[in-house]
Amino acid sequence: MTGRVYKSTGSWYTIKTQLGETYECRIKGKFRIKGIKSTNPIAVGDIVDFNLETDNNETTGIIHNIHDRTNYIVRKSVNLSKQTHIISANIDQVFLMITIDNPPTLTSFIDRFLVTAEAYSIKTILLFNKIDSYDDETLNEVRYLAHVYRKIGYECIGISAKTKKNVDKVKSLMHGKVSMFSGHSGVGKSTLVNAIEPSLNLKTKEISTQHMQGQHTTTFAEMFDLSFNAKIIDTPGIKGFGVVDMEKEEIGDYFPEIFELKQDCKFNNCLHVKEPKCAVKDALDKDDIAFSRYRSYLQIIEGEDEHYRTDIWDK
Ligand code: GDP
Ligand code: ZN
Repeated sequence: MTGRVYKSTGSWYTIKTQLGETYECRIKGKFRIKGIKSTNPIAVGDIVDFNLETDNNETTGIIHNIHDRTNYIVRKSVNLSKQTHIISANIDQVFLMITIDNPPTLTSFIDRFLVTAEAYSIKTILLFNKIDSYDDETLNEVRYLAHVYRKIGYECIGISAKTKKNVDKVKSLMHGKVSMFSGHSGVGKSTLVNAIEPSLNLKTKEISTQHMQGQHTTTFAEMFDLSFNAKIIDTPGIKGFGVVDMEKEEIGDYFPEIFELKQDCKFNNCLHVKEPKCAVKDALDKDDIAFSRYRSYLQIIEGEDEHYRTDIWDK
């Protein structure tokens, strides 16, 4: 049988088949996945094959195969062991919720988020929430940011979770897909999910910081089926994606506008900082690249990893 992992307690996995049947399943013996050293071999979102076993009238499953992942997100434990924990796998898209104020979302946060999502091969859609509450000046800021991010290929939608403006647009994008919602605490994730599916009560706020820094074996994610053929992965307490180990030279590849220009730079190992005849800096001078994006790029290549790490976990 084949199914998707909806929930995991560490040793037991709740797996649902396409027909909607749910089974509690385990892994028997050693189970290693090539190339990934993680504390959990299987994560929420994984698609697995399993056999049923009946013991004392109780039917459970034994997982014997895991399908290749299209992507997965990890977190590294904060302690010295630096073990990797896979939070979830096979995510079709993440909606990054942004507010201009109350709370403010900085472009440096957006850009770090997008770099990590690109590195993970996860499509991101930007939702500018709370547009019902903005004055003209703030709305202009939304328009400007939407322009910056649309230009480099990201879909941007202005919404109001409160008045439900454009919530139907979000729902139609979710159809047939596995989605995640991210963004700073207070941007309106719970309000939006509630507007999308009132009966679903996500636990977005239940995990404390202490919990986050505790045992890395804890699994936070859980998958839910919505009423309109959409799936959502809830990752309580996680507002970002964690740190991805990247080489300096690789970071520009995750900025679509830099990636597009880099073959025009004189040096093929150009970092677009001080090198002569750099196509990226030329584009910046011509305003073809947004200054805020370039500034984020510099911040990331100059490396503030520790800052980044504390920045992305909910406090
Ligand atoms: P979360 O921490 O991201 O889950 O944010 P919440 O959904 O708890 O929302 C935080 C606050 O913002 C609450 O007081 C919401 O009522 C408010 N809020 C959420 N969405 C909107 C919106 O579209 N417009 C306005 N004006 N307030 C909103
Ligand atoms: Zn360059």
